[in-house]
Amino acid sequence: MALTLSKKAMAVKPSSTLAITAKAKEMKANGIDVVGFGAGEPDFNTPENICNAAINALNEGYTKYTPAAGSLELRKAICDKFKKFNNLNYEADQIVVSNGGKHSLTNIFTAILNPGDEVIIPTPYWLSYPEIVKLADGVPVFVRADKSQNYKITAKQLEEACTDKTKALILNSPNNPSGMVYSKEELEAIAEVAVKKDFYVVSDEMYEHLVYGDEKHISIGSLNDEIYKRTITCSGVSKGYSMTGWRIGYTGSSKEIAKLMSSVQSHQTSNPNSIAQKAAYEALVGPQDSVYAMKSEFEKRRNYMTERIAAMKHISAVSPQGAFYMFVDISLALSKTYKGQKIENVNNFSKILLEDYKVAVIACDDFGFDDHIRLSYAISLEQIKKGLDRIEEFLENLQ
Ligand code: PMP
Repeated sequence: MALTLSKKAMAVKPSSTLAITAKAKEMKANGIDVVGFGAGEPDFNTPENICNAAINALNEGYTKYTPAAGSLELRKAICDKFKKFNNLNYEADQIVVSNGGKHSLTNIFTAILNPGDEVIIPTPYWLSYPEIVKLADGVPVFVRADKSQNYKITAKQLEEACTDKTKALILNSPNNPSGMVYSKEELEAIAEVAVKKDFYVVSDEMYEHLVYGDEKHISIGSLNDEIYKRTITCSGVSKGYSMTGWRIGYTGSSKEIAKLMSSVQSHQTSNPNSIAQKAAYEALVGPQDSVYAMKSEFEKRRNYMTERIAAMKHISAVSPQGAFYMFVDISLALSKTYKGQKIENVNNFSKILLEDYKVAVIACDDFGFDDHIRLSYAISLEQIKKGLDRIEEFLENLQ
């Protein structure tokens, strides 16, 4: 057969985070005691009140199509949450509920991009952004935020990266993989550039509930009217409510963009799952104590990891302010040898850790940093301790 397949689809890189997690799971299934630092999801059960809402939905026959953009009940609850938690005013026809945050992002770029439009992606970035942008015919433009700047881009860097093709910036705070949170002042400076240069800000706030210490989550769209008009705020229930498998994400945007997204979605997937919508409604309007409990557990783990890593040889990390990842600089370790061999690169570093020390970590070359690894602390403190002991032993063996 001489038929060619889609060049666009063939250009997509498979998700390396899912691959390493699968490999660690396979080793575990074969009886190997692996510590997996790869997890991109909370290790808690979905809170009981949320599960019960889904059971009630089933029992009450809430099992049919809903409006494409999500039920009015859920969209209204999202408006209330945006108002109370984010200081953002959206009406129900500005909300689109989709099948997870990833799907919301896909819809956003389908709605705003034309072929060749540029999207600025601060580096380090969540590995799906470039692929989602390319699938929507956009061109990713990377702006590097070094460790010395706490992995956050400055307004000056942003302005310098703008061209007449710049259509949007993806802002992700709290950030995956760095855990960094943009301050109000930093957001104001970024907003000023977005308004001056006139582009959209796609604000991915998926980890908004997981912010530690004195840090505060601020939504860029809440700063003033001009930036509000240009912002598409994206969030979901996956991380904050431990609902990754339920697949509910949502956006707040102008009515015009919401209409386009809803119309695209109506042909591609119809509405998000009706039962999951009822569960998401309960997550947003029900008691929030489980969110606080999960957050406080994550904060304990973050503190423990920060202390342990600071005491280790050859690696270092800026203590994360949010999400559940440690972004670890291993550049010094890469110049060392292990069993007489040069380590060479981050993938080799991770391979040795997995094979010789039974610890799975995420090599961050696919996140735009080829001398960093990501350690998720969405695993128990006991596992964290065991895994860090093993990493420490490995580092002690480098020469
Ligand atoms: N944004 C970021 C920064 C993420 O890390 C993730 C999940 N890894 C998502 C969005 C997507 O979340 P969902 O599971 O709801 O698709």
